[in-house]
Amino acid sequence: MRYLSTRGGASAAGFSDILLGGLMDDGGLAIPDAYPQISRAELTAWRKLNYRALAFEILRRYADDIAATDLSAIIARTYTQDVFNSDDITPVSQLQDGVYLLALSNGPTLAFKDVAMQLLGNLFEHVLRESGAELNILGATSGDTGSAAEYAMRGKRGIRVFMLSPHQKMSPFQTAQMFSLQDPNIFNIAIRGVFDDCQDIVKAVSNDLAFKQRHKIGTVNSINWARVVAQVVYYFKAWLSVTSSNDQEVSFAVPSGNFGNVCAGHIARCMGLPIRKLIVATNENDVLDEFFRTGVYRVRPGEHVHQTSSPSMDISKASNFERFIYDLIGRDGVEVRRLWQQVERDGVFDLARTRHFSRISDFGFVSGSSTHKDRVDTIRRVYEQTGRMIDTHTADGLKVGLQHREEGVPLVCLETALPVKFADTVREALGRDPVVPPGYENLERLPQRFTVLDADVDAVKDFIDRYCR
Ligand SMILES: *Cc1c(COP(=O)(O)O)cnc(C)c1O
Repeated sequence: MRYLSTRGGASAAGFSDILLGGLMDDGGLAIPDAYPQISRAELTAWRKLNYRALAFEILRRYADDIAATDLSAIIARTYTQDVFNSDDITPVSQLQDGVYLLALSNGPTLAFKDVAMQLLGNLFEHVLRESGAELNILGATSGDTGSAAEYAMRGKRGIRVFMLSPHQKMSPFQTAQMFSLQDPNIFNIAIRGVFDDCQDIVKAVSNDLAFKQRHKIGTVNSINWARVVAQVVYYFKAWLSVTSSNDQEVSFAVPSGNFGNVCAGHIARCMGLPIRKLIVATNENDVLDEFFRTGVYRVRPGEHVHQTSSPSMDISKASNFERFIYDLIGRDGVEVRRLWQQVERDGVFDLARTRHFSRISDFGFVSGSSTHKDRVDTIRRVYEQTGRMIDTHTADGLKVGLQHREEGVPLVCLETALPVKFADTVREALGRDPVVPPGYENLERLPQRFTVLDADVDAVKDFIDRYCR
C-alpha cells in the first residue's frame, strides 16, 4: 500500500515511512492511495475471529511493509486481557432494545485512546529496533492523550516521553495517572501556566529544526495514521457482534473532537462494512456539527473554545477532518490545499452550495450537539433505567445517537471513557461517587514523579538536553 498526502504534494511512501512522522512534507495528512475492499465472503469468515485475529486481518492490509509474523506478534502483545481487562478487548453490551454500548475504555488510562496508542507503542519500538534509531516524544496534554501516550511508551526501548501539562490544572485522577509513573523513560513536566502555554512550547521546540533533529524529537498526536487505522478494527468488531447476517446495517454514534475516532468509522464504511449512519456527536464546541448541518467549516479562535464537562472534546478545529474532506471532494489534493489555505487565511470554508456537500448523506454522516444539562440528564436517565454509569463524553454520544435512531437499525454508541475520570459531573447527576475499577482505588495516594518548570522554551530545552545524552 502506498500513502499519499491529502494536499497532493508529497511523494508516495510506505506505512513504516509515515509511522513516525507527523504532517507530510507538503503540510497534508497521510492517506492510503485506495481503501482495501472487504468482500461479503471475507466478512462471513471474520465472524469467527477474536479481536487479535481480526486486527491482524485489517492491519496487514495497511501495514504491508511489516513482516506478517512481526505484525502478528505485535498485535498479540498489544491486545491482551491483561492490558484491556477483557479478552474481547472492546466488548459490546446492550443498553436497551436495539441500543448498544461499545466499551473502548478498559485500557490502562480508562479512555478509548489506549486502543490505538498501545499498538503505536509496540509499532514504534519495532520500527526503531529495526533501524537502530531513537525517538524522543514531546507532547502537551490537558488529560487523556498524554496519559495514553505515557502508558503506551513506558519501558519501551529507544523511546523517551517528555510530556508537558499545566501545573495543578488537571483533575486529581488524571494527574495521579500520569505522575505516578516511575519508569525512567517517562518525564512529566508540569508547566507554570495553562494548556496553551504548554502547546506553544511544544511548537517552539518543534520549530527549532536543529534541536529537533539533534534530539530526534517526534510526536504522537491525533493525526498519526496508525492511530486512526488501529481504530478501524473495533468498528468491524462491533458490527460483527450485533449482526448475524451481512445484509444488516448498523449505525454508530461517536463522541467527537479531533475527528480521529469517527474518521476510522468512515474508513471502515469505505472498506465495505455495512454501516448505515455515522453520527457525529459534539458538545458545546460544535465545529463539526455546524459543518455537517450547514456545509460551513468555521474554526474557533482559542478564546471561543468552551471549557465543558466533556473536556476531551473541547477543540477549536478538528485535525483529522482533512482526511474526510479529501474523500468527500473526490480525492482532489489541489482543492484540499486551497480549502485549508482558506481556513488559515479566513478561518472558514463553505461547501454549502457545492455538489460535494450534497454527497454528505452518501457517506452516511449526520450530527448533533449537546450541553452540560443534556449530559447530566443522560447520565441520570441511563443510570435509572439500566443501572449503568456512563461518562460525560459517552453521554454526548448517546444523546445525539438517540436523536438519529431509526427503527430496526441497531445503534452502537461508543463509550470513550469511564465515569471515574469525570467524577464531578457524575456526582452532580447521580448524587453518588462513580464506580472505581479494581486496581485504581489507591491511585491518588501513590508517590508522584514530576518536574515543575516555568513556561519558558529554553528551560524545557535544557531539561531535554540534560536527559538525552
Ligand atoms: C479524545 C477523546 C474524544 C474525541 O475523540 P476524537 O478522535 O478526537 O474525535 C472523545 N472522548 C474521549 C473520552 C476522548 O479522550
